[in-house]
Amino acid sequence: MDAARQARQERKEELLRELAEICVEEQVEEGVFLETPHFSIIERAAAHLGRQLSRQAQERAAREVAAQCEARVACPTCGALCDVRTENRLITSGDGPVEMTETVADCRSCRRSFFPSARSDGTG
Ligand SMILES: [Zn+2]
Repeated sequence: MDAARQARQERKEELLRELAEICVEEQVEEGVFLETPHFSIIERAAAHLGRQLSRQAQERAAREVAAQCEARVACPTCGALCDVRTENRLITSGDGPVEMTETVADCRSCRRSFFPSARSDGTG
């Protein structure tokens, strides 16, 4: 593992520990530990945190995919170069609502919109 990757891994562990700490702080505030809680309560709070992280990671990854798209792409119908813009759309992921960033291009000649994908072989 190179130094940058090692540092990233350590930072991730540090942030995950910090998130776990915040999760427990919230539970303390809610009085969860005034009596010994059933483990399902602890598990539910942890799973909720995991879903929040998942949604954040999905949104960020969607933005990255959109950022990889060319600024102008050829219309699949007429071949004219069209400007690409981004649009946000709320989708429901397995972990709850996620604001997806998508790339959209409008062809003035064809009067249609299409959804270009990232730089690739064009099959996406
Ligand atoms: Zn066109």
